[in-house]
Amino acid sequence: MSALPQPETDIGFDLIIVGAGFAGMYMLHKARGMGLRARVFEAGDGVGGTWYWNRYPGARCDVESMEYSYQFSDDLQQDWRWTERFAPQPEILRYANHVADRFDLRADIRFETRVLSAQFEESSARWTVRTDRGDVVTGQYLVMATGCLSSTNMPAFPGLGSFKGQSYHTGAWPHEPVDFTGKRVGVIGTGSSAIQSIPIIAEQASELVVFQRTANYSVPARNAPLDPGYEAEVKAEYTAFRERNSQMMGALGARIQVPDRPALSATPEQHRQEFDKAWERGGLGFQRSFNDLMIDSRANEIAKSYVHERIRAMVKDPATAELLCPTAVLGCKRMCVDSGYFDTFNLPHVKLVDIRPKGIEAITPTGVRAAGQDFALDAIVYATGFDAMTGSLLKVDIRGRDGLRLADAWSAGPRTYLGLNVAGFPNLFTISGPGSPSVLTNMIVSIEQHVNWIGGCIDWMRANNVPGKTRVFMPLLGFPPYVERCNQVAASGYEGFELRA
Ligand SMILES: Cc1cc2nc3c(=O)[nH]c(=O)nc-3n(C[C@H](O)[C@H](O)[C@H](O)COP(=O)(O)OP(=O)(O)OC[C@H]3O[C@@H](n4cnc5c(N)ncnc54)[C@H](O)[C@@H]3O)c2cc1C
Repeated sequence: MSALPQPETDIGFDLIIVGAGFAGMYMLHKARGMGLRARVFEAGDGVGGTWYWNRYPGARCDVESMEYSYQFSDDLQQDWRWTERFAPQPEILRYANHVADRFDLRADIRFETRVLSAQFEESSARWTVRTDRGDVVTGQYLVMATGCLSSTNMPAFPGLGSFKGQSYHTGAWPHEPVDFTGKRVGVIGTGSSAIQSIPIIAEQASELVVFQRTANYSVPARNAPLDPGYEAEVKAEYTAFRERNSQMMGALGARIQVPDRPALSATPEQHRQEFDKAWERGGLGFQRSFNDLMIDSRANEIAKSYVHERIRAMVKDPATAELLCPTAVLGCKRMCVDSGYFDTFNLPHVKLVDIRPKGIEAITPTGVRAAGQDFALDAIVYATGFDAMTGSLLKVDIRGRDGLRLADAWSAGPRTYLGLNVAGFPNLFTISGPGSPSVLTNMIVSIEQHVNWIGGCIDWMRANNVPGKTRVFMPLLGFPPYVERCNQVAASGYEGFELRA
């Protein structure tokens, strides 16, 4: 890594972008295309965001590769070749780096630089941004491309920090591979990152203890090398393929043809047939097997029972199988996609520990205390997720009009306009922020839609505004009442007027 540049004190940027994941990278490219001067600040030492930080074993996309990619450049989408149906993290990171090189993005990105604060100055109508490296820059627009799942969540377990072994968080994984061979490993959490990493950690560890508070729904990925025939088919009509996906609820999966009918009017045989098909196909399409699964709790129960049956068939120990059966509404949280997760619990050295209702009682110098027992471990993996959607935004001291803090404006929960803008914070944009479809979609599609919208909005402002002029409604409405008021003032001897003879 070359030496970091000197701190900047440039007050002439049009646009300041925080974050160099897929959102920040495309925002920069867009801004340049519009002739705007932009500066990007990124806390990591490379691009890619999620795929830069989440290097845990088994990390992979659960949206199909041909869909989880940018569409703004047809040359890019034609040239890039994915190798698997669901791309693994290293390949997505390579893609992000390829995009950065191809569009020469790095020149305008300051890496290893965390934005600490951003303040709107009313007099200049500009944002002043300060970083942990001493940069003080201003821009007319501020785009927070800080990511919905980028602020790691580390619960305040008693004794946290006392453990003498190795500790890892899935969302801040070391850059070099971690070898668990022969180690006693504990994984805390059973969300998506745990579900992806547990089968791989189990291949290496001598003992694996999984601490579960809430069981999650997961469907098999059925990952495989990407079929070149399918790739060619998509590339032959990529624009139309993207367009069909954009019409879907989650902006993905249009190629999966499902009968448009309710589970409640189907027979048990038809339920089985459709669910079996979806289970064998793999991936997130499962919850679309019938059109009422997400809107009728009775239909949802039918799908839930099917998943339970599958789990009971996969997991040999009945007590473990019961613990792994989720009780929540199916699809209420984004479903997980796995490769061998449930089968892993049949391995003799893998143990599932139910930590309800007390949770993790303590992290101790030798391991984890939970469910009234002490578990001796060599390594702990915290798969405890993220302070989702607002975490990274609120870590920055953002102040809008009259010094209003974003944290105060959102004290009762985030309030945005379309997940793009916040009242009291002029010229501030959030990408895939709370209030937009965001994490319940193919996020690259959502990111591109937001960046394009922000670009359009800035274009419109530039075409319709005198630069630097505060936008207020200037003429007064209604001629007769206005004349009446003028006459009253004259009759009063011009009371209230500042007149110099
Ligand atoms: C493990 C995992 C798997 C996922 N799988 C999928 C999937 O299958 N499909 C899908 O659609 N989405 C998935 N996502 C969601 C994923 O976050 C998005 O798809 C997408 O990568 C988000 O891009 P982004 O640029 O908005 O945010 P991020 O990629 O999170 O990038 C934000 C960047 O902002 C930087 N940053 C934050 N705060 C500051 C600051 N104050 N100063 C400087 N830099 C800052 C961070 O370092 C980070 O690099 C997954 C997320 C995770 C964590």
